[in-house]
Amino acid sequence: MSTVLESGAKHARSGALPAPWEGGHRTRLTMLVAVGVSYALDAVFLACFWWLGRIELSLPLLYVAAGLGHILLFTLAFRIGDARGQRDLLLTEWQMAAAIAVQLGAVLLAPWIKAYFLCIIFVVFAFGTLSLSVRRALLMWLGTCAMTALTLQWLPSQHTVPVSIPANAREAVLVGVAYASILLRCLLLNHYGTLLRTRLIQRQRKLTEEVEAVHRLASHDLLTGALNRHAMLPLLEGQIQLVQRGRQVCALALIDLDHFKRVNDNHGHLTGDQVLCRVVDTMAATLRPSDKLARYGGEEFLLLMPATTLAEAEVVLERVRAAVALQHWQDLVPGWPITLSAGITNVHPSDRLDDVLARADTSLYQAKNGGRNRCVSLPWQ
Ligand code: GH3
Ligand code: MG
Ligand code: MG
Repeated sequence: MSTVLESGAKHARSGALPAPWEGGHRTRLTMLVAVGVSYALDAVFLACFWWLGRIELSLPLLYVAAGLGHILLFTLAFRIGDARGQRDLLLTEWQMAAAIAVQLGAVLLAPWIKAYFLCIIFVVFAFGTLSLSVRRALLMWLGTCAMTALTLQWLPSQHTVPVSIPANAREAVLVGVAYASILLRCLLLNHYGTLLRTRLIQRQRKLTEEVEAVHRLASHDLLTGALNRHAMLPLLEGQIQLVQRGRQVCALALIDLDHFKRVNDNHGHLTGDQVLCRVVDTMAATLRPSDKLARYGGEEFLLLMPATTLAEAEVVLERVRAAVALQHWQDLVPGWPITLSAGITNVHPSDRLDDVLARADTSLYQAKNGGRNRCVSLPWQ
């Protein structure tokens, strides 16, 4: 539970939900594998270009070395980050910068197929948009545009004219397949982004449910589901303040089950618990949505009735009393009547919390002394 609270509090403070890639060894591993596969795929296409005689063998080999270097470098960086407690490190910009530098380097080494390397930068950007903020992505875009322009400027003049890679049918097929693979990689990365977003929404939903559950646990009685005393007293305070400001009237009742100890003694504690639950259900069914019912103690309940006069509260409590007395109890406590006594009072502008509660307690005492199974009201005077 504390973990839920801590993580909820942490993200509430930061104003953001945990990113789905946060702290995920598996996510980083998946990303590095995806990067490795992408490099390997491009190396295969480059090997085909070499086989067709368009580039030197050194280029696919260099490309493989660059891919391995990328993976080793970032594996090491993640290890160092982990050791420093930065478990959510993904180093997206650095990974993008490294991959783009490799492509621009390859443009310089093999300008004949520069279009191919420039296309791969699309894949790198699809990767980056998974976790970069708009600001950082725009900075990355600016940097990439500038570096690409510089690289193209450096090219020998014979390569500044547009290069048409497919010189023959076989190259046309190769370029088509390579281009399709680039599109597919962009598509897969976008699909992965959608998965991350779905996971984020699910986490958000789960977190909301957990926070609601925590709130419910903190404000409700576990056995009966009624509000607990801790949640009720601030509500009562709020109503007293409204009465003091002349905004409304308010009534309150303290309810106690009659001879409940005997129920436990004769039928057992478990049956006693079941009776308590049914009493709460019965009372709740007769109340209006604006009335608030709380379990005040063992078999004592506090009923707060906003915007209710004492005379109206007497009617409500009589209805509650009758509903409990007439409820079907034979299955739980055969031959045993379950009744309640209630002390009712109204809130006066001069009242403090203790005054109202004391008055309700006194009237409850009078109801008990008067023979139980009854409601007694005691107005402020
Ligand atoms: P009275 O009419 O004067 O109120 O008599 P009473 O027996 O109800 O009064 P008393 O306060 O002496 O007894 C209350 C009993 O309520 C004692 C306790 O065993 C029982 N009780 C309190 N909380 C629980 C609970 O959560 N479950 C069960 N089963 N019994 C409870
Ligand atoms: Mg009692
Ligand atoms: Mg009692």
